[in-house]
Amino acid sequence: MKSNSIAVYLSESFGLGSEKISMKPIGSGHINSTMLLTAPKKSLVVQKLNTEVFPEPDMLVKNARLIERHLTKKRQLGEYDLAIIRHVPTVENNYLVDCDNGVWRALEFIGGSYSEDVVLNTSQAQTAANAFGQFAVALEDFDAKQLHHVIPDFHNLAMRAEKLKAVVAKDPQQRLASCQADVDFCFAQFGLIDELKALTGIVPVRPCHNDTKINNMLFCNTSNDAKAVIDLDTCMPGYWLYDFGDMVRTFCSPEQEDSTDLANVCVREEIFAAVVKGYVEPLKDLITEQEKQSFWLGTKVMTFMIGLRFLTDYIDGDHYFSIKHANHNLERAQNQFALYRDILAKKTTLKAILRDV
Ligand code: ADP
Ligand code: MG
Ligand code: MG
Repeated sequence: MKSNSIAVYLSESFGLGSEKISMKPIGSGHINSTMLLTAPKKSLVVQKLNTEVFPEPDMLVKNARLIERHLTKKRQLGEYDLAIIRHVPTVENNYLVDCDNGVWRALEFIGGSYSEDVVLNTSQAQTAANAFGQFAVALEDFDAKQLHHVIPDFHNLAMRAEKLKAVVAKDPQQRLASCQADVDFCFAQFGLIDELKALTGIVPVRPCHNDTKINNMLFCNTSNDAKAVIDLDTCMPGYWLYDFGDMVRTFCSPEQEDSTDLANVCVREEIFAAVVKGYVEPLKDLITEQEKQSFWLGTKVMTFMIGLRFLTDYIDGDHYFSIKHANHNLERAQNQFALYRDILAKKTTLKAILRDV
C-alpha cells in the first residue's frame, strides 16, 4: 500500500477525515513503526505494531488502557502531574485498525514536546529519572495482576541466557564465527543469574515500566521539564532494579546504543549520580533497604542483558530488533558490553554513589 493511501485510511478510521492530511515518521523507537498523522483538526501518533514482538496486540492495548485509567484517577486526585498518553478509538469504537498488512493504533499526540536518544546533561537525567520515579509511585497501588504478560519472562535473565545457548547451538545463519569472543564473554557473566535468584522473596515485585529508556520520556519544549512517560507496552510486574538499571543503561553513556565508537562508550558518573538522585527521591517513602541495595545488581544486569539480547538476535538472524544494516545487532551488543565493562570497572565509585543517597 502507498503511504498516502495508508494515511488516508488511518485518518478516516480515526475520524480525522481525508482532506489536507500528512503522515511522517516521528521518534526513533526500534520496536514499532511510529508516525505523526496530521490533519487540520488535530494530530495523532499512529503506530504500526510489531506483531513479531507483540503477537497479541489486543492484550497490549488492553494493558495500556488499564494503566491510562489508573493514572487518570491519580491525576484527578492530584497524585500524578505528568500528561497521560491515551489511546484514541476509531469511529467504530475500536482501538486497532488492520492496514498495510499490519495492525495500527492511535495515541494522543503530545505537542510542544521532544524526546532524546542521548542524555545531554545532569539536569535532564535527574528530571527524567524523577519522572520515572513518579510513574512508579503512581502505579504502586495498581493491581499489576490485571496485566496480561504481553512478553512472558521479559526481564528474566535465566531465560534470556537459555535462549542465547539455544541459538548458539543452532547457529542458524552461520554467524557464530563472527562473534565467538562476545559469546564467550556472555557465558562468563552468568553468575548474575544466581545473584538475581537470591533476591526472590527479598525484594518486592512491583508494577514496572520495564522500558525506561531516555527516549520513552517526553520533555517540554519550553521548560525542559518532564511532560509524559510514554511507551507503556511492556508495563508488567517486576523489580524496581530493572527500571533503575535500564535508566543507567540508556542515560549514562554519551553514545547511542548502536554507536561503534566503543572507546567513547562509558558510564558518566555525574549522570549516574543524577539518575540515582532523581529516581530515589519520589520513591523514598516506599523503597526498602534491600531494594536500594539491589540497584547495583540492576545496574549490571540491565546493560548486560540487553547486550545479550542484541547478540542473540544477531545470531538468530535479526527477528526482534529492527536493523538498518547487516551487523547492526552485533554492533549494538558490542556497544552494550563495552558499557557493561565500564560499569564493572567503576564499581567502587558507583556503589559509593548508591550508598550515599
Ligand atoms: P517504540 O515502542 O518503538 O519505542 P514509542 O512508543 O516509544 O515506540 O514511540 C517512538 C517515539 O515516538 C518516541 O520516542 C517519541 O519520540 C515519539 N512519540 C511516541 N508517542 C508520542 C506521543 N504521544 N506524542 C509525541 N511523541 C510521541
Ligand atoms: Mg519507545
Ligand atoms: Mg516500546
